[in-house]
Formats: sequence, structure tokens, C-alpha cells
Amino acid sequence: MEKVVIVRYSEIHLKGKNRNYFERVFAMNLEKSLKGLRHELRRTSGRYLVEKFEEGRAEEVAERVSKVFGVHSYSIGLLVGSELGEIYAAAKEVGPKSGTFKVETHRGYKNYPLTSMEISAAIGGRLLDENPALRVDVHDPAATVYIDVRQQGAALVFGEFGAGAGGMPVGTAGKGLLMISGGIDSPVAGYMMAKRGLTVELLHFHSYPYTNDGAKEKVVALAKQLSPYTLVTRLMTLSVTHIQEEIHAKCANELNITLLRRFMFRLAERVARERGDKCLVTGESLGQVASQTMEGITSSNAVVTLPVLRPLIGFDKDEIIARAKAIGTFETSVLPYEDCCTVFLPEFPATRPKLSFIEEEEAKLDVPALVEEAMATLETVEF
Ligand code: ATP
Ligand code: MG
Repeated sequence: MEKVVIVRYSEIHLKGKNRNYFERVFAMNLEKSLKGLRHELRRTSGRYLVEKFEEGRAEEVAERVSKVFGVHSYSIGLLVGSELGEIYAAAKEVGPKSGTFKVETHRGYKNYPLTSMEISAAIGGRLLDENPALRVDVHDPAATVYIDVRQQGAALVFGEFGAGAGGMPVGTAGKGLLMISGGIDSPVAGYMMAKRGLTVELLHFHSYPYTNDGAKEKVVALAKQLSPYTLVTRLMTLSVTHIQEEIHAKCANELNITLLRRFMFRLAERVARERGDKCLVTGESLGQVASQTMEGITSSNAVVTLPVLRPLIGFDKDEIIARAKAIGTFETSVLPYEDCCTVFLPEFPATRPKLSFIEEEEAKLDVPALVEEAMATLETVEF
């Protein structure tokens, strides 16, 4: 009798020619999520089994695979031989000790000497006989013992289905670059695009020494918290310090943020092109702050040609916070550190700046030189 974790994926996306590709990426992602844990991964009739992990680490294995996008559901179960006595021993182990229950059998192996109903009746009957505190209720049982007779000589027995992360395997939708701040929104935006199958690379802008190491550590912490989902273990950083100083010294004060954001987009696009990322991703939400008005979005989009994905565009802050809590980034996001956007913050940021005015002010700067200079500060943190 061996403890295993059963991983089921949704088949919706696995059509025709894509099927092999999706499965390959999915299996690779499961492997990545289990890195550092001894295990073997095996595909068996439309699902995966994680086997041969250390005793007592089943919960950890399950926790990790549950976060892999594409996982529909998972169960911790027992892998046994298909002989009735072995199935019973496993059922006793995973089944309830009291209360109502039923046994549900699926028989993929059609040459098994008993039908599904007969297996359920035999196992259920024996459980009842040996435990007077149990009662059968086939309509609304408190617990169910699932038996899956898969192939000659093997059966899986388990008691519960856990919900997987859903979505599509990361990587099947290509690669994009998330502009990640230390805030609440951008980590959630990254999570959402990863869920749709995008590999989300990470770029953070800092204004060292105006922003300190704590601010950077906070972003690394967020990236780490995202990595069970994104499977990404590196963060790129760029300095926008000199850009901010130049804007502050030479341009209309109310455009500070607008101009900085245009630089951020230009830089992100440069990094994306160098890394083969096909889109940019931000945590913007329409109207949330001055720079996220239609005019603000227009002004940022005007300096790039890559598509900019904004998965939170129609979300309320409350909804974003709820998601940040669910994925575990919220507590870190609200730690108090300076973000580069809060350095040189104008008193009254322009909410509806005209593009002509923006371009006029920007013409006071040597944009190409500032971009080159910032690009030279590119660093990568592996975590
Ligand atoms: P967030 O909670 O993600 O910080 P926000 O509500 O604070 O968002 P802004 O500060 O206007 O909004 O940022 C909008 C988006 O711009 C962010 O979601 C993020 O994608 C990007 N961004 C902002 N600051 C940075 C930064 N320092 N480094 C990288 N990207 C950034
Ligand atoms: Mg922010």
C-alpha cells in the first residue's frame, strides 16, 4: 500500500494536435512545482500520479501541485493491488470512523471479475460489519470512499477531492513581462495572466537610493510568493532614479508620474524584446488613480507597440484585495516601503493630460539617452 497524490487536469484545452504539447508542458510544470522533493511523476489514463515521495510529505506534495495551473482537482490516496482484500485495507484507512458514508467505485479495467456496484457493495458491507458507528447513506453521505480500479493489478482508493488552481498550463500561452511594483495590484495581475497560460517574467523599477533595499526585498518576497503559480524564480530590476531626477528638474510638475510611466513602458518594452516576451502586463485598473484614466493609459500606450495586458482593468479595489489575500500576497504588499512612484510625487498629478502637452514637456529630456542609461542598470535576482 503506497500513499500517492492523484492529479486530474481539465481536458477542455486538450484538443487535437495541441494535446501532446499541452500535456508535455503540464507535466513539466508539475515537475517544477515539486522541485526539491523526492518523487516520481507518472501519467496514467488521463491523470497524473505523484508517487514515491517521503512518508509524511503527502500534504506538501498535494499543496504544491494544487497550485499548478491546469490542475482541475487532486486527491491524496492509496495505491494498492486490485485484489478485494487490499482494496478493503485501503478503504478502511481512508474511510470515516463514524457517521454516514457511501462507497463509489469506478472500474476502468473492464475485465475485473466484479462490477463497480459489486465492488462498492462488498467493500461498503465489510466496512459496516467491522464498524458499528458507520451508517450507509447513498444520497447525502458525510463521507465517500472512492475506489478506482484502473488497470490489471492496480486500484486507487481515496476519500476527498481538493480543488486545483484551474486555468491553463503556464507557458502554453507564450511569454510576457509583468511590471511588478511592491503594491497590491501587480502581483494579482501576474497571477491572473499566469492562470491563462502566460509565462510571466518580472521587471521591477526602483529609485535607489531614494528607495531602499527593503523596497526591493519586498518585491522579491512577492515574486517568491507568486512562484508556486508562475513557476518563475527570477526578477529583473532597473533603476529609474536619474530619469526621475531629470523629469523633476526639467518638466511640468503635474506630469511627473505621467512622464515616468512613459519611461517605464519604454524600458519594459526594451527588456521584453530582448527576452522574447510578447506582451507587457500591468496591474492597472481603470480610474483607480490619476495615471489610470483613459488619458493616462493612452499616454503610456503611445510609446510602445507590444500589446499591454491589463487583467485588472475592470476590477474594484475590494475585488483585487480579496484575490491578493487568496493567493497570499496581500500581507507583503501592504508593508510600508517607498515605491519609486511615491518619490517626487507631485501635489496635484494631472488626471487628463493632453498628449500634445506631454510630448512638449518630454521634449525637454534626452529620452533615448535616458533609456540607454537606465537599461545599463539591469540586474537579475534569482531566488
Ligand atoms: P500596484 O498595486 O500594482 O502598485 P497601483 O495601484 O499602485 O498598482 P500604480 O502605482 O499607478 O498603481 O502602478 C500601476 C502599474 O504600473 C502597476 O500595477 C505596475 O504594473 C506598474 N508599476 C508601478 N510601479 C512600478 C514599479 N516600481 N516597478 C514596476 N512596475 C511598476
Ligand atoms: Mg503602486
